[in-house]
Amino acid sequence: MFNLILFGPPGAGKGTQAIKIAEKFGWIHVSTGDILRAEVNQGTPLGLKVKAVMEAGVLVSDELLIEIMESVFRKHGSAGGFVLDGFPRTLKQAQELDQMLTKLNTNVSLVLSLEVNEEELVKRLLKRAQEQGRKDDTEEVIKNRLVQYHQHTKPLVDYYREKNLLKEVFGVGSIDDIFNELCNAIKVSKG
Ligand code: AMP
Repeated sequence: MFNLILFGPPGAGKGTQAIKIAEKFGWIHVSTGDILRAEVNQGTPLGLKVKAVMEAGVLVSDELLIEIMESVFRKHGSAGGFVLDGFPRTLKQAQELDQMLTKLNTNVSLVLSLEVNEEELVKRLLKRAQEQGRKDDTEEVIKNRLVQYHQHTKPLVDYYREKNLLKEVFGVGSIDDIFNELCNAIKVSKG
């Protein structure tokens, strides 16, 4: 089982690339943001619980995310691989992920970090706001999401670098060029 984490700030292009990678390698794409948005749109009890938090651009609780990921792994236990997009986002989530994968006799295979400067991120997120109308893509909320990223998520870079799992990829350029870079890194890691 190949377990890839696509890492990077909001707007780095994780979603776009994760879909392409999952399709190419036949892996399961897991976007925790998409899972949560679906719950909100369907008005489920979980959705009602997280709606306001998400709209404010703040992270949902680790406990909820861990429950969600446990059910993903239960459902797709025999998959050939996963592309995780938007998870883990805190140290606690990263540690829990390690435990969940250990139970499945596997581990994190590779972490690809998309490097995009802050000015470009804000530009992309504002453009996405116009195109997709995501409620958390307003200027104020974007600022919050970047703060959350720097406070809670960026420290994971060190966690994975120490485990020798991190590879940084420049995330500005054409979607296809970046995709090729990511695929090359995956091929090297797969051997
Ligand atoms: P995303 O689509 O990945 O940008 O996620 C949208 C929102 O969903 C985030 O701003 C958080 O409120 C919530 N979310 C998604 N993934 C996580 C996670 N791993 N931990 C906490 N909150 C999350």
